[in-house]
Amino acid sequence: MSNSGSPLVGIFGGTFDPIHYGHLRIAEEIVETVGLQKMYFVPAGMPRLRHSPAASPKHRVEIVRLAIQKNPAFVLDDREIYRDGVSYSIDSVREFKQEFGEEVRLCLVLGVDAFIKLSKWNNWKELFNLCHFIISTRPGYILTSINELLPKELREECSQRWVSSAESLRKDTSGLIFIASTTMLDISATSIRADISVGRSVRYLVPDIAINYISANKLYL
Ligand code: ATP
Repeated sequence: MSNSGSPLVGIFGGTFDPIHYGHLRIAEEIVETVGLQKMYFVPAGMPRLRHSPAASPKHRVEIVRLAIQKNPAFVLDDREIYRDGVSYSIDSVREFKQEFGEEVRLCLVLGVDAFIKLSKWNNWKELFNLCHFIISTRPGYILTSINELLPKELREECSQRWVSSAESLRKDTSGLIFIASTTMLDISATSIRADISVGRSVRYLVPDIAINYISANKLYL
């Protein structure tokens, strides 16, 4: 994938409670196939649309920092952790846009399970004016039928926005949606927390350095 033209930058938000190889592998594949200059990992402080995270923001951020430290394309961005109140992606994307300027094209990265809930997000329609979307595949979802999974308002909003090649994301400043067929890894933070809580191994699901931190801090027990 060429890196010509305006730089593309990924924004990968999540609870990361904890980060695992499902997140890391799709981020790596998307950086490579889309030709992203950087992938920003943005751990949510207090997510609005789900239960409170099990680990504190400080621990979740530290685990992300350790897990990504060896990858020069991966960057930790902890802005949502230090924002008061509930985490809204729109606030972060607005800030990124302002900081990077018009030249850089922002791409919000999210799994298909998260994307189908997009119309519940605060000011979700405005996101199409600020960034592109890159959707990663996830076990349990048949992507050929993604349209059927979308609620009506979201489906209508998306209808003219789908692009079939990553290169097309360079043609416009924002508002396009690309499905990246990433490797299906049936790994979730929920199952990792459950494994740890009963003393089962999470080796090869989570990087060793993150496991060591989790053990040392007695998280998810
Ligand atoms: P939980 O099980 O606690 O809900 P999770 O494993 O889904 O957590 P999140 O931090 O909620 O992880 O996910 C952040 C983003 O990463 C979301 O957009 C989600 O869809 C995506 N994601 C998480 N795990 C995977 C995976 N195994 N494959 C593809 N995408 C994933």
